[in-house]
Amino acid sequence: FDMFVLAFVERLFRPTFRKDDFVVGKKLGEGSFGVVYKVSLSKKRSNEEGEYVLKKATEYGAVEIWMNERVRRACGNSCADFVYGFLDKSSKKGPEYWLLWKYEGESTLAGLMQSKEFPYNVETIILGKVQDLPKGLERENKIIQTIMRQLLFALDGLHSTGIIHRDVKPQNIIFSEGSRSFKIIDLGAAADLRVGINYIPKEFLLDPRYAAPEQYIMSTQTPSAPSAPVAAALSPVLWQMNLPDRFDIYSIGLIFLQMAFPSLRSDSNLIQFNRQLKRCDYDLTAWRKLVEPRASADLRRGFELVDLDGGIGWELLTSMVRYKARQRISAKAALAHPYFDRQGLLALSVMQ
Ligand code: ADP
Ligand code: MG
Repeated sequence: FDMFVLAFVERLFRPTFRKDDFVVGKKLGEGSFGVVYKVSLSKKRSNEEGEYVLKKATEYGAVEIWMNERVRRACGNSCADFVYGFLDKSSKKGPEYWLLWKYEGESTLAGLMQSKEFPYNVETIILGKVQDLPKGLERENKIIQTIMRQLLFALDGLHSTGIIHRDVKPQNIIFSEGSRSFKIIDLGAAADLRVGINYIPKEFLLDPRYAAPEQYIMSTQTPSAPSAPVAAALSPVLWQMNLPDRFDIYSIGLIFLQMAFPSLRSDSNLIQFNRQLKRCDYDLTAWRKLVEPRASADLRRGFELVDLDGGIGWELLTSMVRYKARQRISAKAALAHPYFDRQGLLALSVMQ
């Protein structure tokens, strides 16, 4: 059966929405390209259930709808459940794209990491109950390992589909209460290499806190986006040559680092870390040599955590946070890394 026919039929039978189907609630976020609200259905659709998230986006919304449709079909479990997207021409501010997702829950990884209870607060939401066990490094490592596995699993889904996210950060990771696992959100900066969509838009600014050192996803020897059919034929080759997916791996590596080192969770300390790492030519081992001799108790505790089980966590961390993209591990290879050999939280083995 033809893929396109299948996609069309699937689209035809999904519910559609209009502007006046919604009652707009609390604002959840505001970026440079749109505003995000929690919404519920209005009276005329009161026979339907559920809470939704609405993003009113600028001209970039068209690409974001396209990306979400593609993810929905190819790797639906990686990202928040996309429901519908349309263009609203009636706004006085000019045309706006409306994007709709299922409301996955109130917790982003950023919010969870800010809590003093992290990572135990995550253990509680994953397992759905408080574990009455003594706290300690081993248990924290197990929770962090479980989170990392979920993040890499979601990212591998995107990368296997040919999509690079380019804005992976704790603010763009949501805990889905339905599936009791983390999902990636915000495909506003994503690129699909296989069809050449959103191929390095020059105006886009990457988040400097989590961005890998390379300025551009593809090497500068690939000067401009080829036309779609050419890109479709060439991009698997380009993918191999330039490994653009490793841009996201660097960001995930920084999240791993922040989870293991409480002192690096604040924005200001992350920015300071980035400066130190740059001075060490992005060599994490050199950074360790620099800071470890005069490390605070907090920092030392982080090293202790990644040094558990013969330093297998540190090994994984240093294989993700590297200057050269081609030397960084892929999401798929990371999932097979011995760091994940040990049993994580029980819920995970039940879920997956
Ligand atoms: P932007 O960063 O462009 O403002 P995001 O897509 O990242 O837009 O969404 C902003 C915020 O809205 C997120 O950080 C999250 O708190 C919340 N959010 C987005 N999508 C969902 C969802 N499906 N379920 C629950 N909350 C969401
Ligand atoms: Mg965001």
